[in-house]
Amino acid sequence: MLAVDRASVMAALEGLEFGKSDFVLLDEVNIEQFMENLKLRFENAHIYTFIGEGVVSVNPYKQMDIYGKEDINAYRGRELYENPPHLYAVADAAYKAMKRRAKDTCIVVSGESGAGKTEASKYIMQYIAAITNPSQRAEVESVKNVLLKSNCVLEAFGNAKTNRNDNSSRFGKYMDINFNFNGNPTGGHINNYLLEKSRVVQQNGGERNFHSFYQLLRGGSDVMLKSLHLHNDPANYVYTREGATSNNDRSSHNAVLSALNVIGFSEEEIHSIYRILGTVLILGNLQFETDSESVRVVGMGDVSHIAELTSTEPDNVTKSLLYRTVATGDGEVIEKGHSEKEACFGRDAFTKALYERLFGWIVGRINAVIEVKDYNPVLHGKNTVIGVLDIYGFEIFDNNSFEQFCINYCNEKLQQLFIQLILCQEQDEYRREGIKWQHIDYFNNQIIVDLVEQPHKGIISVLDEACLSVGKVTDTVCLESMDAKLGQHPHYTSRKLTPSDKTMEFNRDFRIRHYAGDVTYSIEGFLDKNKDPLYQDFKRLMFNSSNPVMKEMWPDGQLSITEVTKRPLTAATLFKNSIVALVEKLGCKEPYYVRCIKPNDMKSPLLFDDARCQHQVAYLGLLENVRVRRAGFAYRQAYTRFLQRYKMTCVYTWPNHLMETDREAVEAIVTQHGFQDDVAYGHTKLFVRTPKSLFTLEQERAVLI
Ligand code: ADP
Ligand code: MG
Repeated sequence: MLAVDRASVMAALEGLEFGKSDFVLLDEVNIEQFMENLKLRFENAHIYTFIGEGVVSVNPYKQMDIYGKEDINAYRGRELYENPPHLYAVADAAYKAMKRRAKDTCIVVSGESGAGKTEASKYIMQYIAAITNPSQRAEVESVKNVLLKSNCVLEAFGNAKTNRNDNSSRFGKYMDINFNFNGNPTGGHINNYLLEKSRVVQQNGGERNFHSFYQLLRGGSDVMLKSLHLHNDPANYVYTREGATSNNDRSSHNAVLSALNVIGFSEEEIHSIYRILGTVLILGNLQFETDSESVRVVGMGDVSHIAELTSTEPDNVTKSLLYRTVATGDGEVIEKGHSEKEACFGRDAFTKALYERLFGWIVGRINAVIEVKDYNPVLHGKNTVIGVLDIYGFEIFDNNSFEQFCINYCNEKLQQLFIQLILCQEQDEYRREGIKWQHIDYFNNQIIVDLVEQPHKGIISVLDEACLSVGKVTDTVCLESMDAKLGQHPHYTSRKLTPSDKTMEFNRDFRIRHYAGDVTYSIEGFLDKNKDPLYQDFKRLMFNSSNPVMKEMWPDGQLSITEVTKRPLTAATLFKNSIVALVEKLGCKEPYYVRCIKPNDMKSPLLFDDARCQHQVAYLGLLENVRVRRAGFAYRQAYTRFLQRYKMTCVYTWPNHLMETDREAVEAIVTQHGFQDDVAYGHTKLFVRTPKSLFTLEQERAVLI
């Protein structure tokens, strides 16, 4: 049954709009109608469509005139159905839930690379910044400013041009914004996930390294570049020579510098950041040669520049590039010379770690500025939170490696959360409350989550075992042990298990049947990426830097070789732990979803590629989402609380409660306002189908109090 009230309000809008502004209003929920509506709206420049309180967005690939001041004002404090679908409507709904009902909320923005997640997150943050702090209190303004400016810095260091997106985020980001009882931002916290650090040393054809390098080279002043021993042309550096510079690099450099200043980075900190970038570029150009059995660095001048930039001793730089300290079985410590290959590998591991730690440090530094200070719940009331998650969507490339494996696992976890929050929780609650509910079939992807993360049995555990075993285990051996353990799993296949496959002899791949589709992963490099080895010598080198900022980034360099833990956590396990923590964080908040769709692979504003879009609709689980919404109730509240809030709007409940039970009193309120067809009565709660009914009550309440 469709909601009558909502439909009629929507109908008024339909005259101005193309298609249904909420997928819930489709005549029938099937993929054909869904796609038809999505396409019709996209082709008529309606890039947003609701699914209940969430919104589906199709990247317009052109500037839209819908984010101005007037637009913000139109959505501010309004109910969802009063305006056409927009990110602002969702942001406002999350904000209202937070403010009116003191609920922690989160906005989960998902979709594949280039679908518009980061742009959407920025609009959401700008909206929240615009509607808060009407009295312009200075300390709140400064928090907002830092929150907004942090985007500019994080994009410079964490984004890069890829073949899919000119400004692709190469890290996942979750940002909590804290609010005081007035609903004004008081601080925040950023978590970053899995920076794609392999990009520092290598990029696919046509792609670039992180923006920060080009911005520095193209935008840095002559004096600055000279002091960093850098030339201004990215073609001079192995790590940046593949990527073309862009016209924006120069102006972006200035914007980043100014953002760093606004956030509160000191001069010394800013210099240290650029010195690390310089170090990475110069290191990338270092070469090694074998000279009568021993390996040496070509171009010692570069070594002294590295020492200068990192405030370390040149001899120590050379030593850590050419030797590693190892502890022998009987506790003796010896220095072992690298082969040329090992030296190159060590150098690249070092530059990746330098960059990764720099990025993590920048995030930590921003957090230190925006962290809520002197918070006292007794004085300040409940501190509520809105979280915004902008994280890589599902990735299926021609060649999928460890990074895609992690990213896709993360998406399985988020889908699981979505299922639990939206589908299971709703269905469970209706059952508990005795509300008639039509069961909805959906695919529960827990089985895939288990395939990846189960202790002792899952893929991560097999990988870890291989990484931590003493003997030399190759990728292929690891794949064999995965096949042995998981060969029977319905969502796992390996070529070895399909003898008809001619490429079987290579046996380099395994395939996971993800909820979003099949992905074949090449096992090559999995073990190295998971082990992520970095010689202790580099850590010690940096810990002994006389630059306090750099030293701070390498606390583990303090350990001597004999103290180093034998079994550090692997990359996959660290990632798993961070995603489990993220899901826990999200799980206790009221979720709002923004589902982003990329209309085509050409970045064209005109083309709606049916097959590409339909695939995304399928793996985002949008049809199931609509079905649940249609069958469900948007809003629910315990009888007592409902009564407390709205008792003044009804003669039977105000000034005196004349009914026997709270439920009867609530029935009286509902009937007096004429939306009895829009609700259902549970054992302890009232369920309301559309926000329109509540809006009437809210309006009346506002007049009366
Ligand atoms: P994602 O974060 O999902 O990878 P982005 O948010 O970076 O994708 O968007 C990719 C590109 O698409 C942007 O750089 C911009 O050119 C375009 N784009 C995305 N959303 C919008 C929008 N709302 N209006 C105009 N262009 C957009
Ligand atoms: Mg992005």
